[in-house]
Amino acid sequence: MSELEALAERVRACVDCPLAATRVRAVPGEGPERPELMFIGEGPGFHEDQQGRPFVGPAGRFLEQLLASIGLRREEVFITNVVKCRPPGNRDPMPGEIEACRKHLDRQIELLEPKAVVTLGRFSMGRYFPRETISRIHGRPRVVNGQTVIPMYHPAAALHQGSLRASIEEDFLKLPQMVEQAAAPPEETPAQPSQPPQPKQPRLFS
Ligand code: URA
Repeated sequence: MSELEALAERVRACVDCPLAATRVRAVPGEGPERPELMFIGEGPGFHEDQQGRPFVGPAGRFLEQLLASIGLRREEVFITNVVKCRPPGNRDPMPGEIEACRKHLDRQIELLEPKAVVTLGRFSMGRYFPRETISRIHGRPRVVNGQTVIPMYHPAAALHQGSLRASIEEDFLKLPQMVEQAAAPPEETPAQPSQPPQPKQPRLFS
Protein backbone atom coordinates (compact mmCIF):
# COMPACT_ATOMS: atom_id res chain seq x y z
CA MET A 1 0.00 0.00 0.00
CA SER A 2 1.39 3.43 -0.94
CA GLU A 3 1.81 6.12 1.70
CA LEU A 4 -0.95 8.07 -0.01
CA GLU A 5 -3.36 5.13 0.24
CA ALA A 6 -2.35 4.53 3.87
CA LEU A 7 -3.16 8.18 4.54
CA ALA A 8 -6.55 7.76 2.85
CA GLU A 9 -7.22 4.80 5.16
CA ARG A 10 -6.38 6.94 8.19
CA VAL A 11 -8.77 9.61 6.95
CA ARG A 12 -11.56 7.03 6.51
CA ALA A 13 -11.07 5.95 10.13
CA CYS A 14 -10.45 9.45 11.56
CA VAL A 15 -12.54 10.50 14.59
CA ASP A 16 -10.55 13.63 15.48
CA CYS A 17 -13.46 16.07 15.19
CA PRO A 18 -17.25 15.99 15.66
CA LEU A 19 -17.89 15.61 11.90
CA ALA A 20 -16.96 11.93 12.29
CA ALA A 21 -20.20 11.38 14.19
CA THR A 22 -22.48 12.68 11.43
CA ARG A 23 -20.71 11.59 8.24
CA VAL A 24 -21.76 8.61 6.15
CA ARG A 25 -18.28 8.29 4.65
CA ALA A 26 -15.10 10.31 4.93
CA VAL A 27 -13.82 11.60 1.58
CA PRO A 28 -10.02 11.53 1.49
CA GLY A 29 -9.70 12.69 -2.12
CA GLU A 30 -8.54 10.99 -5.30
CA GLY A 31 -6.22 11.27 -8.23
CA PRO A 32 -2.77 10.27 -9.44
CA GLU A 33 0.16 10.02 -7.02
CA ARG A 34 2.25 12.47 -9.07
CA PRO A 35 -0.23 15.09 -10.31
CA GLU A 36 0.78 18.39 -11.86
CA LEU A 37 -2.39 19.95 -10.47
CA MET A 38 -4.06 19.51 -7.09
CA PHE A 39 -7.52 21.03 -6.50
CA ILE A 40 -8.64 21.76 -2.94
CA GLY A 41 -12.34 22.41 -2.35
CA GLU A 42 -14.22 23.14 0.85
CA GLY A 43 -15.76 19.92 2.14
CA PRO A 44 -17.91 17.00 0.98
CA GLY A 45 -21.58 17.65 0.24
CA PHE A 46 -24.48 15.20 0.22
CA HIS A 47 -23.37 13.15 -2.80
CA GLU A 48 -19.72 13.07 -1.77
CA ASP A 49 -20.69 11.90 1.73
CA GLN A 50 -22.81 9.11 0.26
CA GLN A 51 -20.14 7.92 -2.19
CA GLY A 52 -16.88 8.69 -0.35
CA ARG A 53 -15.56 10.53 -3.44
CA PRO A 54 -14.91 14.26 -3.91
CA PHE A 55 -16.85 16.50 -6.30
CA VAL A 56 -19.36 13.97 -7.62
CA GLY A 57 -22.46 16.22 -7.39
CA PRO A 58 -23.46 19.26 -9.49
CA ALA A 59 -20.32 21.24 -8.53
CA GLY A 60 -18.28 18.23 -9.59
CA ARG A 61 -19.95 18.09 -12.98
CA PHE A 62 -19.10 21.74 -13.50
CA LEU A 63 -15.52 21.12 -12.37
CA GLU A 64 -15.29 18.32 -14.95
CA GLN A 65 -16.51 20.74 -17.66
CA LEU A 66 -13.93 23.29 -16.61
CA LEU A 67 -11.21 20.65 -16.73
CA ALA A 68 -12.42 19.53 -20.17
CA SER A 69 -12.12 23.13 -21.39
CA ILE A 70 -8.34 22.77 -20.97
CA GLY A 71 -8.17 19.20 -22.24
CA LEU A 72 -7.99 17.45 -18.86
CA ARG A 73 -10.03 14.63 -17.35
CA ARG A 74 -10.63 14.46 -13.61
CA GLU A 75 -8.51 11.30 -13.39
CA GLU A 76 -5.48 13.38 -14.40
CA VAL A 77 -5.59 15.75 -11.43
CA PHE A 78 -5.80 15.24 -7.67
CA ILE A 79 -9.02 16.47 -6.07
CA THR A 80 -9.59 16.86 -2.35
CA ASN A 81 -11.07 19.19 0.29
CA VAL A 82 -10.06 21.23 3.33
CA VAL A 83 -12.28 19.04 5.52
CA LYS A 84 -12.70 15.40 4.61
CA CYS A 85 -16.10 14.87 6.22
CA ARG A 86 -19.42 16.54 5.39
CA PRO A 87 -20.48 19.37 7.66
CA PRO A 88 -24.17 18.69 8.52
CA GLY A 89 -26.58 20.38 6.13
CA ASN A 90 -23.61 21.62 4.06
CA ARG A 91 -22.87 24.38 6.55
CA ASP A 92 -19.46 26.07 6.46
CA PRO A 93 -16.69 24.07 8.10
CA MET A 94 -15.81 25.46 11.54
CA PRO A 95 -12.29 26.59 12.48
CA GLY A 96 -11.79 23.64 14.86
CA GLU A 97 -12.82 21.16 12.12
CA ILE A 98 -10.44 22.75 9.61
CA GLU A 99 -7.67 22.61 12.20
CA ALA A 100 -8.34 18.95 13.08
CA CYS A 101 -8.19 18.04 9.38
CA ARG A 102 -5.12 20.16 8.61
CA LYS A 103 -2.65 17.34 9.20
CA HIS A 104 -4.31 15.19 6.52
CA LEU A 105 -4.22 17.92 3.89
CA ASP A 106 -0.64 18.93 4.83
CA ARG A 107 0.52 15.34 4.37
CA GLN A 108 -1.33 14.94 1.07
CA ILE A 109 0.38 18.03 -0.33
CA GLU A 110 3.75 16.80 0.98
CA LEU A 111 3.33 13.38 -0.66
CA LEU A 112 1.86 14.61 -3.95
CA GLU A 113 4.29 17.48 -4.57
CA PRO A 114 1.95 19.05 -7.15
CA LYS A 115 3.37 21.61 -9.49
CA ALA A 116 0.48 23.90 -8.59
CA VAL A 117 -2.28 23.87 -5.99
CA VAL A 118 -5.61 25.35 -7.13
CA THR A 119 -7.76 26.49 -4.21
CA LEU A 120 -11.50 26.43 -4.89
CA GLY A 121 -13.39 28.89 -2.73
CA ARG A 122 -12.52 30.93 0.33
CA PHE A 123 -11.85 28.13 2.83
CA SER A 124 -8.99 26.58 0.89
CA MET A 125 -7.79 30.04 -0.14
CA GLY A 126 -7.70 30.94 3.58
CA ARG A 127 -5.11 28.28 4.19
CA TYR A 128 -2.62 30.26 2.12
CA PHE A 129 -3.99 33.82 2.11
CA PRO A 130 -5.97 34.30 5.33
CA ARG A 131 -6.34 38.06 4.94
CA GLU A 132 -7.20 38.21 1.23
CA THR A 133 -10.55 38.34 -0.51
CA ILE A 134 -11.15 35.97 -3.36
CA SER A 135 -12.57 38.67 -5.64
CA ARG A 136 -9.20 40.43 -5.47
CA ILE A 137 -6.78 37.56 -6.03
CA HIS A 138 -8.60 34.87 -8.06
CA GLY A 139 -6.81 33.62 -11.13
CA ARG A 140 -3.41 34.97 -10.12
CA PRO A 141 -0.70 32.48 -9.12
CA ARG A 142 1.50 33.20 -6.12
CA VAL A 143 4.32 31.22 -4.58
CA VAL A 144 3.84 30.39 -0.88
CA ASN A 145 6.76 28.61 0.83
CA GLY A 146 7.94 27.33 -2.53
CA GLN A 147 4.48 26.09 -3.60
CA THR A 148 2.68 27.71 -6.51
CA VAL A 149 -0.90 28.39 -5.43
CA ILE A 150 -3.68 29.58 -7.74
CA PRO A 151 -6.83 30.83 -5.98
CA MET A 152 -10.13 30.39 -7.82
CA TYR A 153 -13.81 30.77 -7.10
CA HIS A 154 -15.66 27.68 -5.89
CA PRO A 155 -17.48 25.93 -8.79
CA ALA A 156 -20.68 25.67 -6.70
CA ALA A 157 -20.78 29.46 -6.26
CA ALA A 158 -19.83 30.05 -9.88
CA LEU A 159 -22.49 27.64 -11.13
CA HIS A 160 -25.29 29.91 -9.93
CA GLN A 161 -23.82 33.38 -10.45
CA GLY A 162 -23.24 34.49 -14.02
CA SER A 163 -20.35 36.87 -13.36
CA LEU A 164 -18.48 34.36 -11.17
CA ARG A 165 -19.06 31.70 -13.77
CA ALA A 166 -17.41 33.82 -16.45
CA SER A 167 -14.51 34.50 -14.06
CA ILE A 168 -13.84 30.87 -13.22
CA GLU A 169 -14.13 29.87 -16.88
CA GLU A 170 -11.58 32.53 -17.84
CA ASP A 171 -9.30 31.56 -14.94
CA PHE A 172 -9.37 27.93 -16.03
CA LEU A 173 -8.40 28.80 -19.59
CA LYS A 174 -5.27 30.47 -18.20
CA LEU A 175 -4.35 27.44 -16.05
CA PRO A 176 -2.09 25.60 -18.52
CA GLN A 177 0.05 28.68 -18.98
CA MET A 178 0.14 29.38 -15.24
CA VAL A 179 1.24 25.81 -14.54
CA GLU A 180 3.89 26.03 -17.23
CA GLN A 181 5.26 29.14 -15.61
CA ALA A 182 5.17 27.64 -12.09
CA ALA A 183 8.65 27.70 -10.59
CA ALA A 184 10.68 24.95 -12.24
CA PRO A 185 12.57 22.72 -9.80
CA PRO A 186 16.30 23.44 -9.73
CA GLU A 187 18.30 21.53 -12.33
CA GLU A 188 19.83 18.39 -10.88
CA THR A 189 23.59 18.20 -10.93
CA PRO A 190 24.42 14.94 -12.71
CA ALA A 191 26.37 12.54 -10.47
CA GLN A 192 28.60 11.59 -13.39
CA PRO A 193 28.99 14.31 -16.00
CA SER A 194 29.65 11.70 -18.70
CA GLN A 195 26.15 10.16 -18.33
CA PRO A 196 23.74 10.83 -21.21
CA PRO A 197 20.90 13.22 -20.28
CA GLN A 198 17.93 11.51 -18.65
CA PRO A 199 14.58 11.68 -20.48
CA LYS A 200 12.30 14.39 -19.14
CA GLN A 201 9.11 13.54 -17.26
CA PRO A 202 6.10 13.46 -19.61
CA ARG A 203 4.09 16.63 -19.19
CA LEU A 204 0.41 17.33 -19.34
CA PHE A 205 0.75 20.68 -20.99
CA SER A 206 3.26 21.03 -23.79
N1 URA B 1 -17.94 21.04 -2.81
C1 URA B 1 -16.70 20.91 -2.26
O1 URA B 1 -16.09 21.87 -1.80
N2 URA B 1 -16.16 19.70 -2.26
C2 URA B 1 -16.74 18.63 -2.77
O2 URA B 1 -16.15 17.56 -2.73
C3 URA B 1 -18.02 18.80 -3.35
C4 URA B 1 -18.60 20.01 -3.36
